[in-house]
Parts: sequence; structure tokens; C-alpha cells
Amino acid sequence: MRAWVQERLRAPMVLKEVPEPSPGPGEVVMEVEAVGLNFADHLLRLGGYLTRVHPPFTPGMEAVGRVGGKRYAALMPHGALAERVAVAQKALLPVPEGLSPEEAAAYPVSFLTAYLALRRAGARPGEWVLVQAAAGALGTAAVQVARALGLRVVAAASRPEKLSLPQALGAEVVAPYEALSERVKALGGVDVVLEVRGSALEESLSLLKPLGRLVYIGAAEGEVAPLNPLRLMRRNLTVLGFWLGPLLLDQSLLEEALAFLLPRLGGELKPVVGGVFPFLEAEAAFQALLDRGHTGKIVVRVP
Ligand code: NDP
Repeated sequence: MRAWVQERLRAPMVLKEVPEPSPGPGEVVMEVEAVGLNFADHLLRLGGYLTRVHPPFTPGMEAVGRVGGKRYAALMPHGALAERVAVAQKALLPVPEGLSPEEAAAYPVSFLTAYLALRRAGARPGEWVLVQAAAGALGTAAVQVARALGLRVVAAASRPEKLSLPQALGAEVVAPYEALSERVKALGGVDVVLEVRGSALEESLSLLKPLGRLVYIGAAEGEVAPLNPLRLMRRNLTVLGFWLGPLLLDQSLLEEALAFLLPRLGGELKPVVGGVFPFLEAEAAFQALLDRGHTGKIVVRVP
């Protein structure tokens, strides 16, 4: 079968003929139909993610495909950009009715992260949440999940043309990064920030109301700003770390998240697919993610 292989870190992937996957105990083989690309896949390819994988490996953490003829979504450490992949049976997730394979490939990471990060923050109906990089995959999921939880949303993005989408999804206030402080201060601050940029940490903290909570989810800009705990004291602020992978091992938390998301996906919640690339153009799909012009999730169709 064919798979994209990362033979060296920080290098282009190579499309290769590789042996069929041999499932270990508790694993099943999935016939992959679509792969959702995540910023984390890019970091893994650079060797800059929270876990390190030694090459050669096949990138891709999130897929939709057939297992025994039935369609599932699945999360995995890597390996999805292949015609078939062995996945843990317990990592299979239902595909909600009404979602295309591409839309289904766009839901697990982004919607589980959005729900669980807002839950980690203890966000309550009526509170204001600031969603950074709000036009991206996580951002568009977070705007929708926040609205479904009864929160009010401020959406921020790098370019003004990226703001119409989060606005259409229910953000009441939108701002390009350079106007963000001014707009949030006019509101009197926000209760929660979903921080994914990195260098914006100081600014995001300054936009929190007293007792506000910032969930640190990512640093897509590459720069990890230092955090001075004294900054948190004056207004009783909280900074929480968030990483989806280990949280998914908590079965009751996962069940709670799916109980909220699955009945709404395909209805009130709709994964935004920002681009669908053929299997042979997987490298171009990554480039689209990095060019920062995309909205929603970039998906690679397989085969
Ligand atoms: P997105 O589709 O949101 O793409 C990344 C976004 O980050 C872009 O839309 C862009 O928005 C912004 N960005 C800022 N700097 C850069 C850069 N140098 N190159 C590319 N994009 C940049 O991707 P994801 O939804 O996959 O991820 C969003 C963030 O959330 C990432 O930081 C990711 O690591 C994190 N994440 C973390 C998880 C966790 O478990 N901790 C789970 C899921 C996501 P703009 O141009 O508007 O700034």
C-alpha cells in the first residue's frame, strides 16, 4: 500500500510503497478515506511537538475511514496519511449523521479540544470568551462550541478578511490582532481566553477580567512568551495548560464531551472544511496550513 513517509525531520515527505499495517492487540485496520491536518502534524514533522517521533514515520493524527465496512473517525499518534492504518479499537469515534467524510475528518481534534478547553476553564453561560486564531480549525470549532454552551464570543485573527467566518458562526465581536486590545477593553474584558498563538500571552492576560482564566493550548507563532506568576496575582488570574492527547485517556471526560458534541454535530455544530487536497498533494495541503490564508480544517482525501 502507499503511505506518505517522513524520512527525515524538517524535510518533505516521500510517497512510498510500504508493507500493510499489522494490527497489534486491541487494534483494527482502517481503510482511510480522509485525513484532517492539524498544526500538531506540522510540529511533529519539525521535531518540535510535545512528543518526539523518530523518522521514518507517517504523519497524520486524525482520520475517517472504514473498519469492517462501517465508517468511523479515529485519533492516533501518527500514521493516518496512508491507504490503511492500524488504530486502537478504543480510539474509534462515531461519525455523526449528516457529515461528509471530509467534515467528519475535521471534527475530532478541533471539537474535542474546544469543548474540553472551555470545560477546563470552567466557562459558564453568559461569560465572554476570546478565541485567538478564530478562523482556523480549532478557532471555528471553538466559536461554535462556545455559542452552544451559551457563551459570548470575541474572535480574533491575523487578517480582517478572516473575520467574516467567525462572525457568521456567532462571534459578537471580531477584531484583527492589532485592534484586539482596544475592542476587548471597550467590553470591559473577557472571562476566558483560548490562547493558541504564543507571543500574545501578555496581551491575552491583560484582557482578562478579575478571576479570568486563560487556557494555554498552543503557540502557532513559534514564540513561547515567558510567564511571570506575579502578573496573575493582582487580578486573581488563572493559567491552565491544555493537551488533548492525555485528556482522552480519561474515559468519563471523553464520554461527557462526546455526549455534548455528537447530537449537535451535523446540526448546530458544523466542522468547517477549508480545503480538500488529493492524496498525491499532501505536501501542498501542509503548505496551505502554513500559508495562514486558510479557514477551517485542511483535509486530505485518500487514496
Ligand atoms: P489552524 O487551522 O487554527 O491553523 C493555525 C492558525 O494559527 C492559523 O489559522 C493562524 O491564524 C495561526 N498562526 C499563527 N502563527 C502561525 C504560523 N506561523 N503558521 C501558521 N499558522 C499560524 O490549526 P489547528 O486548529 O490545528 O491549531 C490551532 C492551534 O491550536 C495551534 O497552536 C495548535 O498547536 C493548537 N492545538 C492544540 C491542541 C492541544 O491539545 N493542545 C489541540 C488542537 C490544536 P491567524 O493567521 O489568524 O493568526
